[in-house]
Amino acid sequence: MSQHTNTTEPVCSFCHRGKDHVEAIVKGPQGIAICNECSDSVHDIVQNTLSNQQEDIDLADVPKPAELKDQLDKYIIGQDYAKKVMSVGVYEHYKELAHDDSDDIELQKSNVLLLGPTGSGKTLIAQSLANMLDVPFAIADATTVTQAGYVGEDVENILLKLIQAADGDISKAERGIIYLDEIDKIGRKGENASITRDVSGEGVQQALLKLIEGTVSNVPPQGGRKHPGQEFVQIDTSKILFICGGAFVGIEDIIKTRLNQKVLGFNAGTSSKTDIDDKEILKYVEPDDILKFGLIPELIGRLPIIAALEELDEEALVRILTEPKNSIVKQLQKRFEIDEKEIDFEEDALRLIAQKARERKTGARGLKSIMEDLLLDLRFEIPSRDDVKKIVVTQRFVKTKNQDDLMFTDSENVA
Ligand code: ADP
Repeated sequence: MSQHTNTTEPVCSFCHRGKDHVEAIVKGPQGIAICNECSDSVHDIVQNTLSNQQEDIDLADVPKPAELKDQLDKYIIGQDYAKKVMSVGVYEHYKELAHDDSDDIELQKSNVLLLGPTGSGKTLIAQSLANMLDVPFAIADATTVTQAGYVGEDVENILLKLIQAADGDISKAERGIIYLDEIDKIGRKGENASITRDVSGEGVQQALLKLIEGTVSNVPPQGGRKHPGQEFVQIDTSKILFICGGAFVGIEDIIKTRLNQKVLGFNAGTSSKTDIDDKEILKYVEPDDILKFGLIPELIGRLPIIAALEELDEEALVRILTEPKNSIVKQLQKRFEIDEKEIDFEEDALRLIAQKARERKTGARGLKSIMEDLLLDLRFEIPSRDDVKKIVVTQRFVKTKNQDDLMFTDSENVA
C-alpha cells in the first residue's frame, strides 16, 4: 500500500484525496479506503461491463430478411423494392455484429442511402426496422449540422440523441440506428459540382463522413456546444447503422441524361430514347448520379446500399389510410369506439382525401392533417351527442365540410 496506510486520516486508495476533498471515505481492511466519487466510478464501470456482456446480439434473435420484410409490410404500403433492400441490409449488418470475431475478415459496415420523395416512407422504414430489432433509434437532420467552429449543431449532438434513446446506455447506443434526413441538402452547390465548390457543404459532409465510417467521439452529456472542462461520454460509432435519406429533387434528370447517353452511344445514328417511366427512373440511380448531385465520393463510398422509394399514387394513399396496423382510419375508429360510436368512410370519400393529399405534394404526410382538419368539429361534438350512434363520412362531406352531408344513424336504428 501507499504511504497513507499508517496515517490516521483516511485517504482514498484510488485518487489519494483526503476527506477534506471528498464527501465520504469508506475504510476497508489493511489501510485500504475508497471515496464516494471513486466508488461511483467503479459502480459505473461494473455496470457498463455487465451491460456490454448482455448487449451482445444473438444471431438467433436477428430476424431473417423475409421476416423483416413481412413485418415491414404490416406498416408500410408499397415500396416493395426498398423494403427488400433494407431487410437484407439490416440483417447483414446485425449478423456481422453478432459475428464480431476480431480474427475474422473485417467486413465493411454497410450503411444505407434512401432516395425518394418527401412523405414516401423513408423515415418510417428506418424507424420500423429499429423497433423490430429493439435497438435505439434517433433521427437527425443533416442540414442543422455544421462544420466545427460554425454556428449550428455539432455532429456530436446526433450521437447524443441516440444515447438518450438508449436511456444513457452507451453500449446499447453503439448498436443503434441513426436516420440522417436531408442528406441531399448538404451537397456542393452548382450545376457542375467539380467546378463550383461549396466549401461549407463539403465541410459538413467531411464531418458526417467521419461519424459514418466509424470514430470514437466525445459527446458532451448535456448537449449543446462544448465547454472547456466539461466531461465527455465516449461513444464508438463504428457499429452504428446510418441510414441516410433525401428527396434528391432533380436527380431524375441526371439519371435520364446518363441513360440516354448510353442508348445513343449504343444505337449511334438513331435518336432513340430510353422509354423508362418517369416514376421508375429513380430505381436506376447509380453512385455516379449522386456524385453529380454533389455528395463527395468518400461519403457515397460509405453508403454502399442504395434504395429508391416511389412517389405514392392515389391508390397507395387510400391504402395507407386504411390498411397499416395503426392506420389513420383504424386509430380514429378506435377512438370513436371508446365513446361507443362508430365511424366509417365511403370509398369515394377516402379517394378524395387521397387526391387532396396528392395536391399538397407531401406524400402520405398530408393525409393526417387533412383528416384532422376535416373531422375536428365532428370529434368535438360527437362524444356528447347521445342521439348519434354511427357516422358515415361521405365524399360530399369531404368536399363541403358541411355536417348535413354526413350520414348519421341514431341509436334506435342500430341494432
Ligand atoms: P419521408 O419519406 O419523408 O421520410 P415518412 O416516412 O416520415 O416520410 O412519412 C411520413 C408519414 O407518412 C409516416 O409517419 C406515415 O404515417 C406515412 N407514410 C409515408 N409513407 C408511407 C407508406 N409507404 N406506408 C404507410 N405510411 C406511410
